[in-house]
Amino acid sequence: MSERADELVLVINSGSSSIKYQLLDPESGVVAASGLVERIGEERGSVEHRADGRRIEHEGPIPDHKAGLRLVFDMFADTGHDLAAAGVRAVGHRVVHGGEIFYEPTLITDDVVAAISELSTLAPLHNPANVTGIESTRELLPGVPQVAVFDTAFFHGLPEAAKTYAIDAKVAAAHGIRKYGFHGTSHEYVAGQVAEFLDRAPDRTNQIIFHLGNGASASAVRGGDPADTTMGLTPLEGLVMGTRGGDLDPGILLHLMRSAGLDADAIDRLLNRNSGIKGLSGVNDFRELQRLIDAGDESARLAYDVYIHRLRRYLGAYLVELGRVDAITFTAGVGENSPAVRADALAGLENFGITVDPARNTAKERGARYISPAGAKVPVLVVPTNEELAIARAASRVVAEHGGRSNSVESGGR
Ligand code: ADP
Repeated sequence: MSERADELVLVINSGSSSIKYQLLDPESGVVAASGLVERIGEERGSVEHRADGRRIEHEGPIPDHKAGLRLVFDMFADTGHDLAAAGVRAVGHRVVHGGEIFYEPTLITDDVVAAISELSTLAPLHNPANVTGIESTRELLPGVPQVAVFDTAFFHGLPEAAKTYAIDAKVAAAHGIRKYGFHGTSHEYVAGQVAEFLDRAPDRTNQIIFHLGNGASASAVRGGDPADTTMGLTPLEGLVMGTRGGDLDPGILLHLMRSAGLDADAIDRLLNRNSGIKGLSGVNDFRELQRLIDAGDESARLAYDVYIHRLRRYLGAYLVELGRVDAITFTAGVGENSPAVRADALAGLENFGITVDPARNTAKERGARYISPAGAKVPVLVVPTNEELAIARAASRVVAEHGGRSNSVESGGR
């Protein structure tokens, strides 16, 4: 490898039983190594590590995150990146919920870890896992600066009218209830890429972005600032997703509590794991959904139709909110790879100046590209997201601002 380890950033996305990671150059975006630890705490865990065109696998019990990261660091060493010895410039951690406290990439200190942990009441599925990942990495790479990059950060600046839920204001204030929004790292990165692609000043560009992966969200961005987004206090609100249903009448939950006797845990499982595409069709992966539709499965067809219907509802809302739209962009797994979703989401909108060119939409290209016809009033784009690169750049920037020190700086609520 030609790159020096101490110029690279390790990006870690730690889930409750998994760790996704990438070692990359924050300048060029070149990935030196990447991988995935899965089924931590279960009988058969696994690590899949890729570096220099090689793929190494490990199978066996992985009791906890620290054990998983130890295995990963051994694999790094085996593939020419001895992180503990050579050091890395920084570790960037994806953290799901920053609450009201964190809205910028933040150098991690003991106080920051404690505050992220306290925010677990707002994100019980995510923040504890993020904290475990952070603590394990700090123990294994002492002295390396670590930076938390929050999924909610970009949406901190949502207008009051967009982020306020119309419930008793005292209850909302007491419990931190407001729209926080998620996938912010992706929406912000893609918004920047779109402005660059269109060669427009970001602060004069209005855009609608659909981030359609396993989780899915849309955003309206006005002149580089967030105007609205579909996810809310939690990632449950908004679009239909792989296993989450997005918007619901809250009365459904009261009905289920009273009539079916469901408690908070049962409702949590229903809303987070057994709803959305999976709840309607039995599968959560979009490729499988498309195979079922092709085979004539009616529940899969309905799931797809509900998915598209919801996308179009928010498209309409955001067109009106923004008034003038300079780009509509699709990103993430489904957004980047499903021409059918893109075409169906925007079908019949010629009167609004919105059209998709069938040949461009189905072309086997990668990278940022137009899918609207040449000269269209509203450019429609596909732009690949790259949350790891955005996190690596943010981490690198924070380290530069703090002169490369690790634990000596108070974060002061940044
Ligand atoms: P995550 O939210 O986990 O980061 P991704 O952005 O990777 O997820 O998106 C995963 C989704 O993208 C899955 O539903 C997968 O089926 C879908 N996807 C990936 N490739 C394709 C494809 N070629 N056509 C349709 N859907 C795809």
